[in-house]
Amino acid sequence: MLSSLQECDTIRERLAGYALNSLVKEEAGAVTAHLATCSACHAEHECLAAVAPHLIPLREALADESQRRKHGRHRPERITSLTLSQWVNSKALVAAR
Ligand SMILES: [Zn+2]
Repeated sequence: MLSSLQECDTIRERLAGYALNSLVKEEAGAVTAHLATCSACHAEHECLAAVAPHLIPLREALADESQRRKHGRHRPERITSLTLSQWVNSKALVAAR
């Protein structure tokens, strides 16, 4: 069994996808169950759920930008290799500052 800290880490990685309804059913169910028992993750979820509607257009805008930068410096295409929830988590952290 996972310690509660490990479980919170796992859940938080999925929270953004959960807020955007992009998780598979089993993952979403695990998140729902965890949120019912963990007030810290629940608070995090409330925060993400509030910003989620704004994130999709933002993500599309960012993807456009990375396309335009292609001819510039030689950069690994990090943005496209992120999962959606990793991307949203990174944006949510910035927004929370
Ligand atoms: Zn938790």
